[in-house]
Amino acid sequence: MSASQPHTLGDVVVTMAGVGKWYGDFKVLKDVNLDVRRGERIVICGPSGSGKSTLIRCLNRLEEHNEGRIVVDGIELRHGMRDIDKVRREVGMVFQSFNLFPHLTVLENCILAPMKVRGTARAEAERTARLYLERVHIPEQAGKYPGQLSGGQQQRVAIARSLCMNPRIMLFDEPTSALDPEMVKEVLDVMVELAESGMTMLCVTHEMGFARKVADRVIFMDRGEIVEAETPDVFFDRPASERTRAFLGQIL
Ligand code: ADP
Ligand code: MG
Repeated sequence: MSASQPHTLGDVVVTMAGVGKWYGDFKVLKDVNLDVRRGERIVICGPSGSGKSTLIRCLNRLEEHNEGRIVVDGIELRHGMRDIDKVRREVGMVFQSFNLFPHLTVLENCILAPMKVRGTARAEAERTARLYLERVHIPEQAGKYPGQLSGGQQQRVAIARSLCMNPRIMLFDEPTSALDPEMVKEVLDVMVELAESGMTMLCVTHEMGFARKVADRVIFMDRGEIVEAETPDVFFDRPASERTRAFLGQIL
């Protein structure tokens, strides 16, 4: 049985319909169809090179798709679009490598975008930043520089920094893959708390304990396709596809 708490999902906030993408003549995404509802938690797994990063990067337009439609929070992502900043404000992203600014303190990392992009006053931005540093359990690190923190702490800062923009959707791309094993749990715990707070989340991760605990749906990608998209119960206990079974056999 899944430990995931039943919770109510809202309207569709992300639509991918017939999405295709090429890198040169290599087709990296093939006919991807996915609707994500508000409050939904999606875990995406699959072999290296299957297109997981590309899929989520298309959602905040770090990559452009070539075919089909993507709509994020009511805004259709299209070539030459003007309101890309609006989409990026609503969609937070946490990467495998924490991508913190090394020359800025933790607090300064957290207030930079709210002040520059949202135009928030410094005092207010700092108040919000301290709140989120509290939420990721490192309020005492506010004055330190990233290089003075452990990898797990840096990743929690990266999560807090994203949350400071008050995003409606959070994307995670293998957020624990670069961490030493003993630091994985402290980051996953923060992600579980975020999921339980109702955040809409798409997480690329191979942490299957996390998937069982919080995912509403687990998606398996292989060679640019969504092969399976199921509740954790079905996904882990009776996956339909042979490819999914083979993958699970390797990682579980
Ligand atoms: P995953 O995250 O599942 O490992 P990616 O989305 O990163 O997969 O990559 C899927 C495929 O696309 C891989 O074969 C990768 O080498 C290729 N690829 C990724 N980014 C680029 C790029 N910018 N240019 C060309 N090929 C790329
Ligand atoms: Mg990747």
